[in-house]
Amino acid sequence: MKLTTKMKQVDRISFAASVPVGLESQVSNGQQCPYLSQHSGEPALGLQQELETRLRDKGVRPTRQRLEIGELLLAIPRHMSAEQILRELREKGSRLSKATVYNTLNLLSKEGIVREIAVDPERMFYDSTAHPHHHFYNVDTGELIDIDDATVRITGLPDLPQGTVESDVEIIIRVRNAAAS
Ligand SMILES: [Zn+2]
Repeated sequence: MKLTTKMKQVDRISFAASVPVGLESQVSNGQQCPYLSQHSGEPALGLQQELETRLRDKGVRPTRQRLEIGELLLAIPRHMSAEQILRELREKGSRLSKATVYNTLNLLSKEGIVREIAVDPERMFYDSTAHPHHHFYNVDTGELIDIDDATVRITGLPDLPQGTVESDVEIIIRVRNAAAS
């Protein structure tokens, strides 16, 4: 069956609202992507230095592999699974092990430099845009696409559990390719 990627239908909508549970809830809603300035033709060295500074600020040593993986993901706004990142690194001739790639991605997301998105039980996605935002997820292609915040209006959210405040609301709209007619 031939599938088109243009026509999509909504499969399922899921809301993933996270409410702070204590220590490390960092709300950075509306924050600009810190690497946006790098997307307009700045030399790659700028990104490397920026990443180095951000890691140092967080008390994380900017090792070669952390920079290598961080730069790959942050060079342009993108969503990648660990496998895709590993493949791209290998294509560039990198010999980083799978374990190093997974551990580094964990670290980068823990430090808020990339965002982990658990959209698929099979695999985690890593997003170069670190602040909370909404996504389409195409279950047929595995593609994750950002949704412009301005196009989403959320009403009718339930009362929050007692003793909590809203941290963020992220919507994932799952779509699948519509069958060609
Ligand atoms: Zn995204």
